Amino acid sequence: MFSVARDFSFSYGHRLYRYEGKCRRLHGHNAEVRVEILVDSLNEQGMALDFVDLKAIVGTWIDETLDHRVFLAKDDPLAEILTAAGEPVFLFDENPTAERLAKMIYEYVEARGFKVGQVEFWETKNCRATYRRTAEEEK
Ligand SMILES: [Zn+2]
Repeated sequence: MFSVARDFSFSYGHRLYRYEGKCRRLHGHNAEVRVEILVDSLNEQGMALDFVDLKAIVGTWIDETLDHRVFLAKDDPLAEILTAAGEPVFLFDENPTAERLAKMIYEYVEARGFKVGQVEFWETKNCRATYRRTAEEEK
């Protein structure tokens, strides 16, 4: 089993609706994301995968879908206001935390046919959330 990883970065705004801490206010982050892919065997070039392919698939999606967007819970009243103002808002069923962003990215990459080991998501250089499947969830 080989593990390879590629890092991505993007900027976003968000707020945590109905949260008592300072993250209830609209603010932004420069996120760093590390996507780990697991591969059983190497290809003819001796690679687990081509990082160019991972960048093309995942990096393009991040750039076009997540970068410079505002992430909000779907019941956050700010969503309607920003949408009316022409801002591209990305809605989550619940608050857009680093944990949920890590899981969303994991599921996107998995749906593209990769076996994902884990997705690490740095909201700041000191704060990171990781999503991976437990053996129980794999079943
Ligand atoms: Zn935040």
